[in-house]
This record gives sequence, structure tokens and C-alpha cells, in this order.
Amino acid sequence: AKKEPLRRCCYYEPEMDEDVRNRRVLQADILNALEDQQFQLLYQVQCCVATGEPIGYEALLRWMHPEYGMVTPDRFIDAAEQNGLIIPLGEWVIRQACRDAASWSKPYKVAVNISPIQLVQMDLPRIITESLLEAGLPASRLEVEITETAIIDDKLRALTNLRRIKALGVSVAIDDFGTGYSSLDTLNSFEFDKIKIDRSFLADCCDNENAQAIIRAVLALGQSLGLPVLAEGVENEQQLALLRAMDCAEAQGYYFGKPGEYREGDEGGNSLQFA
Ligand code: C2E
Ligand code: CA
Ligand code: CA
Ligand code: CA
Repeated sequence: AKKEPLRRCCYYEPEMDEDVRNRRVLQADILNALEDQQFQLLYQVQCCVATGEPIGYEALLRWMHPEYGMVTPDRFIDAAEQNGLIIPLGEWVIRQACRDAASWSKPYKVAVNISPIQLVQMDLPRIITESLLEAGLPASRLEVEITETAIIDDKLRALTNLRRIKALGVSVAIDDFGTGYSSLDTLNSFEFDKIKIDRSFLADCCDNENAQAIIRAVLALGQSLGLPVLAEGVENEQQLALLRAMDCAEAQGYYFGKPGEYREGDEGGNSLQFA
């Protein structure tokens, strides 16, 4: 039952009014879940390829649903973006991630995913500023992850916000790099601090020479722009060896640790209780 989509989120329902009704129920559910504190952040470690040492942790949202158990974001983020609830939900994520990171005994970075809808809200820089102040977290410990589509939608407003956020001292990573429509244009329009190469290129890099060539090209691109590249979705030693040979700076994936609860005291993947 865990793999089944949320019953109330049946976009495939043939009946239109049924569909609308389901969305309303899901909307009410998300609002209720926010009030009821059913959302939780898990953390996945991001490591230095050369040393294996942790550098930061990416916050990944989970809905601990009283009926359905742990629900992953692919089942509710789309709906939350459509009904606008991604704005309060995303605000909760930023505040919570800052609070969590401030409580860690080591100054790891915390990376937060920002939805395209959030990115064009005029008050996003203020929300980030408040979250940092409230938590007592230095801006240099926060990184926001933005996908290419986030900038394509409303370029001017997105770029204005990104510049303001960067001016606070928060770093900005481009996420899922290589999967959008205008990766190079996006890189050209803003000074990102990091490129996160999408995990689809890692998935078959060991026996697919095209995928390898693309990873190599992205690394060269990062190098000529002076940007570190993080490889997503590293699942085994073979992939890591390849990244090491190519001088990739950072990596993230099940090999280092699955998203889990941050545990004080241990390092790397061991600091996470697997979920
Ligand atoms: P993403 O930002 O690309 O996050 C990485 C996803 O890849 C996570 O899925 C993570 O669990 C998964 N992953 C990590 N390492 C591996 C690996 O080695 N192999 C494989 N197969 N998968 C791996 P998750 O947590 O289900 O999140 C899915 C997407 O939902 C995220 O993709 C992100 O776009 C979105 N998301 C998650 N949390 C938030 C949030 O707080 N706000 C917003 N707006 N979006 C979020
Ligand atoms: Ca991400
Ligand atoms: Ca990603
Ligand atoms: Ca993704």
C-alpha cells in the first residue's frame, strides 16, 4: 500500500467534479497537517568526494500522515503548488531547517529546496532573513536549491529574489542540472554557488559512455565557471570511484546515506537513522 498514490489525490479520476473534490480534500488535509505538525524534515548528507567527510545536509520533506504513513513529496508537492499551500508549507520548511541546523553541534550547511512558486513571492528574502535571525543561524550555513524551471517561469522576479537572497550571504545551488530546457541560459543569468548534476546521469554512468561524457562536460563547465559540482544519486563504490577520477568535488546519495533523522555524534551516513 506504501507505493500506492494517495487515494484522495486521484488526478487520473475520469470525473472532473470528483477530481476537483479530491483536490479540495487534499488542500484541507495539507492545511490541517500543517496545524497538526504532521510534516517532518529528513536530512541527507552531502560529502566531499576526496575525503568522504560530510559538508552539509539537504532537508527533504515528509508528511507523516495518520492514515497513510510516511508520504514522500512527489505525492503532494504538485498539489501544494497548484493550490498555493506550498507558500506556507515552504515557509515552514525554511524555518524548521534553520532551527534544526542551529541545534547541530557542528557547523554543517543545511540545503533547502525552494519551489518555483515560492521563488517569485516578494517576501521570500524577508522570510529567510527572519528564519536565520530566529534560529540564530549564520547565513553562510544556509543554501537554497533552485531548479531551472524556477527561473524560466517569471525570470525577472525570480532573479530579483535570488540576488536579494545571495546578498544576505545565503548560497544558491542549481538543482537537477541538465534536465531542464535551458541549462546554459540559466547558468548565464545568475551567479550560482554550486551545480547539482541530476541523478539520472549517475544512474547508468558505469555502463553508459554518453552519461559519463555528460558528467565530464558538466564538471568542465563547473571548472571554467569556478563552481563546485555535486553529483546526486551516488549509490555505489563504482560510481564514487568514477567521480573521484573525474575530480568531482561533492556527492550525495544512498551510498553515503539515505534521508534520515539527523543524529548528533556520528558522522556521514552513520549519523542518520535510515527511514
Ligand atoms: P531533489 O531535490 O532532487 O531531492 C533528491 C531526491 O533524490 C530525494 O527524494 C532523495 O531521497 C532522492 N535520492 C537521494 N539519493 C538517492 C540515490 O542514491 N538514489 C535514488 N534513487 N534516489 C536518491 P525525495 O526526498 O523523495 O524528494 C523528491 C523531490 O521532492 C526532491 O527532489 C525535491 O524536488 C522535492 N522536495 C523535497 N523536499 C522538498 C521541500 O521541502 N520543498 C520543495 N519545494 N520540494 C521538496
Ligand atoms: Ca534538491
Ligand atoms: Ca536534485
Ligand atoms: Ca529532483
